[in-house]
Amino acid sequence: MPPGPLAILPLPGNRCSIVWSEETQEAARINALPDTDYLAYLRPRFGSFLGEIKLAGARFTYPLNLTLADHFIAPRLALIGDAAHGVHPIAGQGLNLGLRDVGALAEVLIEAKRRGEDIGAVDVLERYQAWRRFDTTTLAMVTDGFNRLFSNDNSILRLGRGIGLGIINAIPALRQRFIREAAGLTGDVPKLLQGRQI
Ligand SMILES: Cc1cc2nc3c(=O)[nH]c(=O)nc-3n(C[C@H](O)[C@H](O)[C@H](O)COP(=O)(O)OP(=O)(O)OC[C@H]3O[C@@H](n4cnc5c(N)ncnc54)[C@H](O)[C@@H]3O)c2cc1C
Repeated sequence: MPPGPLAILPLPGNRCSIVWSEETQEAARINALPDTDYLAYLRPRFGSFLGEIKLAGARFTYPLNLTLADHFIAPRLALIGDAAHGVHPIAGQGLNLGLRDVGALAEVLIEAKRRGEDIGAVDVLERYQAWRRFDTTTLAMVTDGFNRLFSNDNSILRLGRGIGLGIINAIPALRQRFIREAAGLTGDVPKLLQGRQI
């Protein structure tokens, strides 16, 4: 949609979580609508590909900003999760990123402790920052780019989006690659997230 994407994220049991991006004032107006008016407004945007829809829970509004801390660490301090990075929820990646931070930090600290190092020292924490910085920055840029790409009505971009998504859908290997990427299964995955002991 021109003001921002409407992301439909699958949940178990025939339910979805939706992230509907609008200009701040318009979001407040829509969110204040009674359920029936809200659904009437949502339906044409949602489409009919999942059949009839109804509301299953409360609605909330959040201000969305791209935030990326200049430094994830300082002496005896490490930032994880949204304290380190706030990415657009278009791809549902915020929690995954935070869990990867936790896994990476735990691994770095436990290995340092085993070697007898000071776990709060900057040179130890630097390993955590070096590990997570690239993944986080890349994903922040990709989600921001996706958000911009899907937040306008330019006919050339619309055509490009359609062709791009069509190609991904038509090539199973490419689709699998995107799914693995979105599930956080690529790159240097911390042991905890692979279900392994540190
Ligand atoms: C609309 C929306 C949809 C999203 N959808 C998805 C999705 O589908 N998938 C996904 O992976 N991610 C999604 N995210 C992102 C995800 O919610 C966040 O990345 C995740 O919650 C970050 O976890 P966190 O623990 O780092 O921070 P938070 O969840 O923000 O937790 C921080 C906690 O600290 C508390 N706190 C703050 N200050 C203080 C203080 N001074 N003292 C004590 N406590 C304090 C806060 O109240 C809060 O409970 C979405 C985000 C939004 C806004």
